[in-house]
Amino acid sequence: MRRTRLIAGLGIVAALALTGCASGSPGDSSTDSATDGAGATSTPWEVATDVSLEGSPTYDAMVERGGVIVGVKEDQPGLGYLDVTTQARTGFDVDTARWIAASLGFDEEQITFKAIASVNREQAIKNGDIDYYVGTYSINDKRKQDIDFAGPYFETGQGLLVAQDAPEVTTIEELDGKTVCSATGSTPIQNIKANFPGIKTQEYDLYSACVEDLINGQVDAVTTDQAILIGYAAQYPEDIKVTGGLFTQELYGVGLPKGDDALRTWINTVLTDGGDIWKAIFKNNLGSSGIVVDQPKVDAY
Ligand code: GLU
Repeated sequence: MRRTRLIAGLGIVAALALTGCASGSPGDSSTDSATDGAGATSTPWEVATDVSLEGSPTYDAMVERGGVIVGVKEDQPGLGYLDVTTQARTGFDVDTARWIAASLGFDEEQITFKAIASVNREQAIKNGDIDYYVGTYSINDKRKQDIDFAGPYFETGQGLLVAQDAPEVTTIEELDGKTVCSATGSTPIQNIKANFPGIKTQEYDLYSACVEDLINGQVDAVTTDQAILIGYAAQYPEDIKVTGGLFTQELYGVGLPKGDDALRTWINTVLTDGGDIWKAIFKNNLGSSGIVVDQPKVDAY
């Protein structure tokens, strides 16, 4: 919260254009995304070749399968997004998921992405449907009863999105009597329901459905993490805008099967040692979004 600020213009669309498809490129040690003469996109991470990770049942399953199954979002521009026309997956979270896979020795062709909504994340991890989850997933104690988190790897806070012609809103209380939309099972909807009983709520599995309702005038505001809302505002700048500041602190973690301490420690080390890679992933995906944030310190609980 302290270091996350919305400073200026909303340029995620331009940032997305930069990221394109990030296929794995073993041996590439550059710290920035670039396109070579042949049109292939290089990545800031390297695919590891001699991985030795003992005591992780999740990693053992990946090796046996010959690939990684990663849970992500795919309707959150700048963070986790699937372009349905080109089938390109982009975003800060998606690239973080690729970076982790690469650290474990898996390249782009060995990654299967599964879109999983906020409300289904813990269950998907518990079921073993995915190996790990990277998608605007706030670390909290309630979730830690079911799963574990590596990280944090990103910091933001709850914000508000309103119609472009609506008055600015500075406190959530100002929305008393109004209808606010958010995703089922998310921390922002829980916050509204628990602490702002005067606000009416509309819930969907996906934030994009809330954004549609906002544009159609069916709800008065959408609430979730400001970093997510900034992506939507950049997608529909004529229609909607981010308003107010950050109302909470949200620290994003990588969701993991509970008790896989070896994998959690591995990912924490990758994040801690990979400051330059983190910066390159941030620059490639959110560099022109107006978001200013440092890499948070890993909390190796
Ligand atoms: N970070 C919040 C959460 O984990 C909101 C975003 C989301 O639903 O993914 O609930």
